[in-house]
Amino acid sequence: MSHPIQKLPDNLINQIAAGEVIERPASIVKELLENSIDATADSITIELDRGGMQRICVRDNGTGIEKSQLQMALTRHATSKITNLDDLQTVNTLGFRGEALPSIASVSRLRMTSNNQSSNQGWELQTEGGALDTKLKPAAQTQGTTLEVNDLFYNTPARRKFLRTEKTEYTHCEQVVKKLALANFQIAFSLRHNQKLIFSLPTACDQADQVNRLGKLLGASFVDHAIYFDRSHGEMRLHGWLAAPTYSRNQADLQYQYVNKRNIRDKSLSHAVKLAYQDVLYHGRHPAYVIFLEIDPQSVDVNAHPTKHEVRFRDNRAIHDFVRQTLKQAISELRPARLDADHFSKLASSVTTTSNAAKSHPHTYHLGSSEPIRRLYSSAIAEPSQDYVSRVAPNTENLPNEAESPPLGYALAQLHGIYILAQNADGLILVDMHAAHERIVYEHLKSIETKSAAIRQQLLVPIQIAVTQTEAQTAETQQGLFDSLGFEVSRTGEESVAVRAIPQILSHSDISVLIRDLLADCDKNDLSTRIEQARDEILSSIACHSAVRANRKMTIAEMNALLRSMEKTDRSNQCNHGRPTWIQLSVKDLDKLFLRGR
Ligand code: ADP
Ligand code: MG
Repeated sequence: MSHPIQKLPDNLINQIAAGEVIERPASIVKELLENSIDATADSITIELDRGGMQRICVRDNGTGIEKSQLQMALTRHATSKITNLDDLQTVNTLGFRGEALPSIASVSRLRMTSNNQSSNQGWELQTEGGALDTKLKPAAQTQGTTLEVNDLFYNTPARRKFLRTEKTEYTHCEQVVKKLALANFQIAFSLRHNQKLIFSLPTACDQADQVNRLGKLLGASFVDHAIYFDRSHGEMRLHGWLAAPTYSRNQADLQYQYVNKRNIRDKSLSHAVKLAYQDVLYHGRHPAYVIFLEIDPQSVDVNAHPTKHEVRFRDNRAIHDFVRQTLKQAISELRPARLDADHFSKLASSVTTTSNAAKSHPHTYHLGSSEPIRRLYSSAIAEPSQDYVSRVAPNTENLPNEAESPPLGYALAQLHGIYILAQNADGLILVDMHAAHERIVYEHLKSIETKSAAIRQQLLVPIQIAVTQTEAQTAETQQGLFDSLGFEVSRTGEESVAVRAIPQILSHSDISVLIRDLLADCDKNDLSTRIEQARDEILSSIACHSAVRANRKMTIAEMNALLRSMEKTDRSNQCNHGRPTWIQLSVKDLDKLFLRGR
């Protein structure tokens, strides 16, 4: 290269910066929406033409930009959101780098119109390729800001070539709007593509409205199978919606994670969720969820990624554990529960037509915080009296007061030696008795095992295992931990360890494989989680073999006892392999199937 070293012109600097943050129309939609959210708007409209490649227009009713500041807003590294380095540590706005608008302006034809309270008059600025020598013009604009971006990449043909089809670009834009709309219930959003209204979301203040918005954005069936949860621990709070394990997906496409309202992808968060579901999810399936983590801004670095899709936690481990435990508990508390009157009555009617009935899982879950599940549940738990059990007959007159019937009702009969038919206040309950019993035995075994935690078994001959030097070191430093889990592991050389005792429950496992896995994993994950996992696999297989087999005749009393245990058992809505253990067909559902009342 023969050129001397020289400073690049501003505009070129902006175009280079745009290469980092402005990849496609969706990146612009994201930046503009984030600016509107930061401007505390409570109504935002988005219009797109040709997937956003031709035109993107975002209008908000936020604070607006003062006339004298309009040019400044398009200047590189100019921001109103932070003023010094300390601010960066506690930043609670979505933007803070002051590079989005100049970058966008440098690769498009941009029109910015704003009306800030102080002026009570709108002003407009237009620029092509980011040139800032233009005059401001008065404009018709009420309180707030409108950004219109035309002809993206018109001046950078090389970049334009990388754009995909209109449909693909549009889909990316829609995904961006969805992600932000899920985290900002206080804002009304509307989205148009090629002049067609795609959705219009009113502000959603209470939980019923929020569930409504979730349904519009993620589909009714997600909502039908989701529970709301909300837990806090110290300065951390985790809340959101989890789909029941029986509503799993074959792709990880319905997973929304937020940290302080910022949508991010975080490996350690995803891993924590995966662990929380691991005992209840069918192999190879992916859970569906929308979770919001709120933590002290000081304990997270949001400036870790050019497009801010990733963050860095100060204490990764504490977050991982909190998320895993919270979700695990929320999942374990999913119980058969009667619906809260009519409040979410649509949940009960997921069976609409005969053909649908076969496909869907008409589980009914109580939607609300998991608190009410417990309360509702314990009030309904009154055991049927022995005398009721003995005179039970499929005769409704003999049934106790309907309102008092427990969530899974009372057994009527056994079908083909496989299913239990029961009647509850809402209608018919069908239980897969093997699957249900398997879960009960399994959870029971787990609870015994936890109580008598780690009964140790000394090995007659110690097991020698060859490991790497780092792993041997880990064995040394983590001795206390191994000890508390029922292992006796010690380092015997540069690259070897010996196992002298193991937890009794693992006596039939391949110990050298397990220990090697544990040591290899030690830094990444929770050691005790790995052991829990190994233990669960064994208990699960014991449970499967000891659960009632098909064709075993059960008495009504036995069936009722099984129903009552299900109501009391953690995670009893699905068997150890993640299949549902019971379904409900309400009288309303049955009426629909028989076209009654039409
Ligand atoms: P950043 O968001 O990182 O500050 P931007 O380039 O996105 O940088 O925006 C520059 C500045 O322009 C913001 O700091 C803000 O003061 C102002 N601004 C941008 N969009 C809006 C808007 N929709 N409403 C009010 N002010 C805005
Ligand atoms: Mg911004």
